Amino acid sequence: MDYKLVCLLLGCASTVPIAQPTLAEGGPFPSEFFHAAFARAKTALEEHLPYRLEATLDIAEGRQPFGSVDPLSPLEPVAFMRRSEGKIYLSPAKFEKFCASRLKTARAAEDLAFVLLLHELLHVYQDKVLRTRNARLDPRQLRFFCEGHAVAFAESLARAHRVSEEILAAVRGSVAPRFRGQLEHDRNLLRQHYSYELSARFVRRLGLKVDHFGKLLETKISYPAILGCDLKRLVPSGAAAKQLKVFAKARPDLKLRPVVEIDYFDLCLLLCPPAFDDFALCEGFRGGALTSSTFADGSSADVFLLHFSGGRQQDFVTRLGEYAALCRGEKRTVAGEGAGGRIRHEGYPGRGQSCHIQMAGSLAILVLADDGQASAFVQTCFSSLVMENKP
Ligand SMILES: [Zn+2]
Repeated sequence: MDYKLVCLLLGCASTVPIAQPTLAEGGPFPSEFFHAAFARAKTALEEHLPYRLEATLDIAEGRQPFGSVDPLSPLEPVAFMRRSEGKIYLSPAKFEKFCASRLKTARAAEDLAFVLLLHELLHVYQDKVLRTRNARLDPRQLRFFCEGHAVAFAESLARAHRVSEEILAAVRGSVAPRFRGQLEHDRNLLRQHYSYELSARFVRRLGLKVDHFGKLLETKISYPAILGCDLKRLVPSGAAAKQLKVFAKARPDLKLRPVVEIDYFDLCLLLCPPAFDDFALCEGFRGGALTSSTFADGSSADVFLLHFSGGRQQDFVTRLGEYAALCRGEKRTVAGEGAGGRIRHEGYPGRGQSCHIQMAGSLAILVLADDGQASAFVQTCFSSLVMENKP
């Protein structure tokens, strides 16, 4: 398994204006400062483990080991653990910036470093557990478990060592994602929210102990369960994928790519981040499928077939319209044209693209198309897929 345990500790720091380090009282921090915080964190964690952790701290200024971090993230980590080495890297310059943007007094930096290093040491412990197992975990789930466990237990251990709530809040940053209407930014925010906040909430609810990471890995998770949806109300269906496959088979001339199934999380990341926390919408989601095609003029189109129940397809369309309006800086809510109506949002999700939605029965058919040949393809999709779903 090649999954890197990478930690992006800055949370939502990119949305916080980062001041120049102005720590009159403590910064710049000497390496002894970090080594002392590291020793304190290591002892605090080892109190709960039956063995000593093999871990070292590398003050990484100037050597730029941070380049290999998840390129999707707009954030720069203060510290991270590199799995192959059992080593924690920490950048003092980034730490100082982090302190300057989040802390009121430099004295608090000691506790802040303690919490950050606890988090990384928890990743070292997780790594040790993971090495004893052969079970393959989905990378998304693995990251969910690792970060959730690290966030939740760095906090609870820090509390036990009398770290103030103020410091813990400074480490967390903002809890609720603040969507801007910029799709890439919002998707990143959504991924972080999933990895850090929702995962920590999930881990806390399980009531495990810090050294129960192995048990945590055995926990069954589903995306709706994470959101707190009523699982009894969820009956997933493969209807969307089946129908899209039939369509692709009937129209070989369109050269559609193989149909892939998408779950609610995929859907939110691909389309509409603000729909994410909507329990009712998630409970209405019965599964979706996606295909795409590129045309001779280079334009391309994505086709989503989304299956909802309980009339949630209408809610979904409305929500997508609201998000499209947010993207364009409009304040008003874009109202759908009612069930079966056809809606077109120009400029969603990016320039030169438009989003076309039509409802057919319990399905929402959604086509994201470039201008050019792809735009002519929209009509083909709708007429074929709507015909399929005539009651
Ligand atoms: Zn982490």
